[in-house]
Parts: sequence; structure tokens; C-alpha cells
Amino acid sequence: MEDMAQMQQVAEALPLGTLQALRGCIYKPRTSPYSFQGLANEGLTILAQIKRTSGLPVVTEVMSSEQVAAVIDHVDVLQIGSRNMQNFELLKTVGQVNKPVLLKRGLSATIEEFIMAAEYILSHGNANVILCERGIRSYDTYTRNVLDLGAVVALRQLTHLPVIVDPSHAAGKRELIPDLARAAVACGADGLIIECHPNPELSVSDARQALSLPDIQALIESLAVIANAVGRSLVNKSLVKHQDRFSTLSQVTLVG
Ligand code: PEP
Ligand code: MN
Repeated sequence: MEDMAQMQQVAEALPLGTLQALRGCIYKPRTSPYSFQGLANEGLTILAQIKRTSGLPVVTEVMSSEQVAAVIDHVDVLQIGSRNMQNFELLKTVGQVNKPVLLKRGLSATIEEFIMAAEYILSHGNANVILCERGIRSYDTYTRNVLDLGAVVALRQLTHLPVIVDPSHAAGKRELIPDLARAAVACGADGLIIECHPNPELSVSDARQALSLPDIQALIESLAVIANAVGRSLVNKSLVKHQDRFSTLSQVTLVG
């Protein structure tokens, strides 16, 4: 998230009936300490405003217990990013709050380590965990990561939790994202989280993987037919409001 205008443009361009949440990260885990680090607490006002004007739940990443305390009353879903998937103290903290947690798979985490990370949250009292496959690290540098759709299938068999896919961080290149998103829905993903920007080239974070608004609109349209082909449909209930996948089994949820 960069500013209110950017968030508003995104919210206005996307089909609100299909989109189930908006993600705006104000604390950003950047590889380089010299890259944009997020708006921090200043961004809270924007999150609150976009939540009000769009009527959509908002998601934001937290990297510490202090950040959990700062955002807990202003957001609907807490994201734990890949780099913190095994930050056990943070997992225990979000295990004790009354908000759903979107847990991203660690960069090199095995499926078992991913499930155990989710167990930390569940066993501390928070039953509302959404698993997110976002690509794992491998030797090929052409894509940013390798999207592990096998893990999506396995996680859906091994757990009762909703499993969503982030093709943006997996591919790292916008031209690969639509096909990966469709493949994710085809193999059973319960939702998608996709990065977009009104002017992708000008995005201060992950510009290469941000979809333009017309591109994400076209992608969303194309997903309906894939969802139907595998006996699902695009939304009308939110994962955010439902404790487990069974209540949303026939729907695919989109986070923009
Ligand atoms: C993000 O979701 O913006 C992000 C930093 O992703 P990940 O934690 O998957 O790298
Ligand atoms: Mn990102």
C-alpha cells in the first residue's frame, strides 16, 4: 500500500461482488533495508478508510507482536508472511487474537513444517487459519519461486483449513500470473491473492509482478469458467467469516 488514491483506484476497478478482501500492507518485510518499508502506523488511517468506503474486509501483514497490537482493531485478517512462518512467538500471539490469520508458506518450508506452523496458531486458540501457498525456493532464477500446486492438493487432503494461492510471489513476473492463477483454481485452491496496481511499472514494491487493473479484471472474468469446470463457483461467502473450508467448499475466494 502506497497511499489512499492507489487503494481507492484498486477498490473501484475490481468487481466487489467477486473480491472478498483487499490487502494493503503497511509493514513490509523487504529483503533490502534500503527498499520502501511501508507506511507503518500512518497507513492505518488509509486501511480504515478503504475498509469503510469499499465495504470489504482488509488484510495486512504483521511481523511482530507490537504490530499485532497496533492493527488488531483496524483490520479483518492478519497476514503472517513467509519470512515469519516459523516465528513461533508471533504465531503464539496471533493464536490468541480473535481475527483470522492468513499464514504464508515459508520460502523453503516443507509441507509438514507449514502445517506445524498452522498448528501453533490453532493450538493457541485461534481456529481461523487460512493457508497460503506462495511458491518455494529452488534453483531456477527465471521465476521468483516455484509454485507448488502439489502442496495445494496435499494440504487440502491433510487439513480442514482453506488453502489459497499467491501466484504473484511465486511467479514474480506478471505475464505468468493469469495461467498460474487458473491452474490453482483448477487443482482445488479455495482462493487467490493477487497483487495489482493502477500503474504497475510505478509500484514501489514488487513492480514486476503487479498486474494492471484491466489485466486483473480480465483474469477474474476468466476464472469463473475454470471454477465451474471443477464444480466450484466464484464466491459469495467470505473465507474471512467462516471457520473452515467446508462452509465455502463450493466457492473460490479472491483477495486483491
Ligand atoms: C507479500 O505478501 O507481500 C509478501 C511479502 O509475500 P511473502 O511473505 O510470500 O514473500
Ligand atoms: Mn509483495
